[in-house]
Amino acid sequence: MSKPRIHILALGGTIATRPDATGAMQMGLGADDLVAAVPGLAELAEIEAETVSRVGSHSLSFDQIHALAAKIRGLEADGFVVTQGTDTTEETSFLLDLLLDLDKPVIVTAAMRNPSLTSPDGPGNLLAAVRVACDPWVKAHARALGVMVVMLDEVYAAADVLKVHPTRLNAFASTQTGPLAALVEDRVVPMSLPVREAIVAARRHFGAAAGGKAAPVVLLWMALDEPGALIDAVSGARDHLGYRGAVIGAMGGGHTPERATDSVLKLAAALPTVVAGRAGGGGPLLRKTYGGPSSEIALRAGGVLWAGRLQPLKARMLLETCLRAGLSRPIMGEIFDAFG
Ligand code: ASP
Repeated sequence: MSKPRIHILALGGTIATRPDATGAMQMGLGADDLVAAVPGLAELAEIEAETVSRVGSHSLSFDQIHALAAKIRGLEADGFVVTQGTDTTEETSFLLDLLLDLDKPVIVTAAMRNPSLTSPDGPGNLLAAVRVACDPWVKAHARALGVMVVMLDEVYAAADVLKVHPTRLNAFASTQTGPLAALVEDRVVPMSLPVREAIVAARRHFGAAAGGKAAPVVLLWMALDEPGALIDAVSGARDHLGYRGAVIGAMGGGHTPERATDSVLKLAAALPTVVAGRAGGGGPLLRKTYGGPSSEIALRAGGVLWAGRLQPLKARMLLETCLRAGLSRPIMGEIFDAFG
C-alpha cells in the first residue's frame, strides 16, 4: 500500500534554530534540515518538505498565516504539518482553524528545547505530528478534529490549546477540554472529538476574510484598580491609533474595574470590543448573574461583544478574522455568542 503524502511547511521557531558563533540560537534550519534529523519519517509517509520562512513565531503576522492557509488549500497532499515557534502556536493554530475547512489533517508542531540542548523535543514532535497526520482515525475524522497541535505526545484542538508555561518541556495544555488523543509506542490513541459548531458557524461568514485587509486588534488586560487611561487613549485618538477592534481580558465571569467601565463602554461605542475571560484558560463567561455598572449585564447591554469560552488570545484571532471579512456588529455578536 502506498504511504500517505505529508507536506511539511516550516516557518521557523526554536525547532529551526542553530547556534551562532557566540552560542546564541538563531533562526537558520529549513524544512529539509528538520526532516533529515528524523530518519523515521520516511517509514511513515512520503514527505514533501518546504521552507516557508525562517522567523520566530513572536514575529509572525496575520497576513503570513493567511498566506499559509491559502498555500495549504492549493497543495496536493494527504495531510499537512506546520512547524513553527511555540510562542504563538496557540494563536496561529486557531487562526488556521478558522480559515481552513479541509477533510485532511492539518497539524501544527514546535519545540521547547532547541537543537543544541540535550534531548531536544523537535525531532520527536515532528515524528509524532506526521504519525498523527497519517493515522486512520485522524484521517477519518479530519474535518471534525479541525486543526490540531501536537506537542510532547499529545494532540490538542486548536480552539483550546494554550501555552501554559514559558520554558518547560510540557508547556502546552488544553485546560478546558484535555487532549484529543495521545501517542504511545507507535499508536495514536483517540480520546475525544472537539465540539466545533461555533467554529463551523463562524466560518460560513468568512468568505471575504481571505482577501480582506489586516484589521489590528488591541488586547487590553484588566487588573486590580486599572484606571482605563490606555483604553481612553485608543477610543479618543484619531483613527483609534490604527486599531479596528479591541479585546478586553476581563476579570472573573466578565467584569471590569468600576473605574475603567466608562472607558470600556466608550471603546465599545467606537470599535467592536470583545470581553474575554482572563482567568485560567478561558471558559464560559457569565451573562446575567451580576448587576451594577461594571457587571456582565451592564457591559453586554452597553454593546460589548462576549467571547464565551474563548480565551483572550483566541478571541483576538476571531475578532481580526471577523473584521477582515467586513462583518457587521450583529453578525459578530452572533458569532461570538455561539462560543457560550
Ligand atoms: N521564540 C520562539 C518562537 O516562538 C520560541 C519557540 O519556538 O519555542 O519562535
